Amino acid sequence: MEFPNCTVVDHPLVKHKLTMMRRTETSTATFRALLQEISLLLAYEALRDLKVRDEDIQTPMAPMRAPMLEGKKLVLVAIMRAGQGILDGMLQLVPSARVGHIGLYRDPETLTPVEYYYRVPGQLADRDVVVCDPMLATGNSAVAALQRVKRSKPGSLRFVCLLACPEGLANLREHHPDVHVYTAAVDEKLNEHGYILPGLGDAGDRLFGTKT
Ligand code: URA
Repeated sequence: MEFPNCTVVDHPLVKHKLTMMRRTETSTATFRALLQEISLLLAYEALRDLKVRDEDIQTPMAPMRAPMLEGKKLVLVAIMRAGQGILDGMLQLVPSARVGHIGLYRDPETLTPVEYYYRVPGQLADRDVVVCDPMLATGNSAVAALQRVKRSKPGSLRFVCLLACPEGLANLREHHPDVHVYTAAVDEKLNEHGYILPGLGDAGDRLFGTKT
């Protein structure tokens, strides 16, 4: 199936690492390391169109004009708590990025996301912003997080996740047709509890070892 709002980063290294992450027997430490490695590779693709501008520099051999990233520093926003895992990998690639966090929980009655934490750098105008969360499942958290960030009118907005599903991509496209999604794979479907199938289980629990 084709999803116009989504780029699947299907590099063999990404595929291999994702398969290792899916396996039930993969340890917390390995899962965490793999998420960091894949996130770096996802970021590489998601940031492919960042603008550069030539500057005068001097090499040990000669002067030259050479490209440098243009504009204000990138802002990476993690949806708590599993988004932290993606953030860590992206920061390895872009260590100078500014960082924000958004905390959302699902109201048990209305099943809609409720914000409990928002700490994102101000002045997002003219900045490229990347919102990250490993699992684009129902898409409700992503939709709410993107809505919240849009209030600060960022220069551009992208969404990076490890795994997506058709339902989440459709939800995101309906509410944020302007936001492109970068993911390692689009899985088959959601189950009745809002988990991605075949997926990898609860990304937060696997990342932090909190499953009891
Ligand atoms: N969140 C997860 O951690 N896993 C899923 O499969 C869906 C949402």
